[in-house]
Amino acid sequence: MIMPQNEVHYMMRYLADRLRKFERESRPVDPETAQALKSRWDAMPATSKVPGQLIGRKSAGCEATHGVFPKCNFSCKPCYHSADANKVRIDGPHTLREIDRQMGFLREKRGNGQFAQLIGGEVSLLEARDHGDAIALMRRHGRMPMSFTHGDFDYDYLRAVVTDDNDSPRFNWVSFACHMDTTMVGRTGIKKPQSEAELNEYRGRFCQMFDRLKDEYGIRSYLAHNMTVTRDNVDQIPDVIRQCHGQGWRMFSFQPAAYIGNENRWSEGYRELDSDSVWGQVEAGAGTALNYGAMQFGDTRCNRVTWGAYVGDAYTPMLDDSDPRDHKAVDDFMTAFPGNFAHRRPLETTVRVIRSLASHPAVIPSTVGQLRRFVQRSGGLGQDWRTLQPVTFVLHQFIDAADTAVAWQHMKDGTRATEPRIVEAQERLEACAYSMGHPDTDELVPACVQHGILDIEENRKLVQLLPLPTRRNG
Ligand code: SF4
Repeated sequence: MIMPQNEVHYMMRYLADRLRKFERESRPVDPETAQALKSRWDAMPATSKVPGQLIGRKSAGCEATHGVFPKCNFSCKPCYHSADANKVRIDGPHTLREIDRQMGFLREKRGNGQFAQLIGGEVSLLEARDHGDAIALMRRHGRMPMSFTHGDFDYDYLRAVVTDDNDSPRFNWVSFACHMDTTMVGRTGIKKPQSEAELNEYRGRFCQMFDRLKDEYGIRSYLAHNMTVTRDNVDQIPDVIRQCHGQGWRMFSFQPAAYIGNENRWSEGYRELDSDSVWGQVEAGAGTALNYGAMQFGDTRCNRVTWGAYVGDAYTPMLDDSDPRDHKAVDDFMTAFPGNFAHRRPLETTVRVIRSLASHPAVIPSTVGQLRRFVQRSGGLGQDWRTLQPVTFVLHQFIDAADTAVAWQHMKDGTRATEPRIVEAQERLEACAYSMGHPDTDELVPACVQHGILDIEENRKLVQLLPLPTRRNG
């Protein structure tokens, strides 16, 4: 059979388009992500333009939703949401509409494959189907969503989020961040815990739900444990880590309390806790020094991060920031593999890895050397490596709302602060690693600004738009 000439022409064009698309998407970094990384790097303050900086080289930063479901059924002290948050009705269609707008905007501004928190409010107050739809929608926009929860829901809810009407999995992996600590009030079975130790059983139960999900549906999970730190629970951090690191958490993240959000929920003494004292307790729990200088995420006054792994009960950081060879390995890695591999088909990823290695072959010996040193520091090949459990330790310190307000105004006016405390806040906001998208104003807003300044007005409007049901309105 002879094909008409115009069909041959159409077919050739179709194949050429597909090949061009494949070529673009299998580059070491796709053009839209490369552009987003460059813009991010250009906007970083000099204080954070350092070797080992991930923002602008590997990532444009983490993201989060806002104004989608602000209500929560716990009463934590502190709470980063404004006083009006609990007067807003949880509404699935509103949530999905807003997520679509915000994630579309973030995709346009920040490229593909950024981590994005699905956060309110309490995410499990969403109907399970809406929660699952929100995860799917965020993925469609090239985000890697993480549902941020207090964890007070049961297995049936979790299963309903991740399965469809035929009880088949909607996702092959999910990511949840669970906030669990003694600053929280309202958990079923333990309304007002008196010690962190009392919560360990609940921490374990949360992880077990995801083990069961894996057994029954084959769905893998990434679980992060979040803990607000005050002077009342800071010295309990080591025990939480020691008792819970084997439960299945992939991340332990600690947030020293700050004066941000609902003023009615503030207490005395938040400023007594500095990053060093909290990090010291995290190190005591990990049983080793946690260096964070070889690879950093934004400003280290906001974020300290140590990537590493447990082998048995012993934790070893992946990188040693006193070893220049590890700094070189990080630089080679970020040069060879800019951006990330999220949401790509396996063939694209394979070709991309090959092209990345070919463009910067020095990454091969430096990565092999870095892995060899990690194995040596972990005790050598004789260890029981079947027990390997990667775990990341994080400290995220919000900025007090009063300082954020002044520093943000400087940023909007294009001026520089001079008072040391505000200079620091401005530098941190400029290097922010955790932003919200505002399509209406064409802005990317640091979470400190969102919770410290914008939430108040945003929630006031939402109270009008989504009032709580009353007897009269049903
Ligand atoms: S949200 Fe605030 S504390 Fe967090 S990275 Fe951004 S500026 Fe720093």
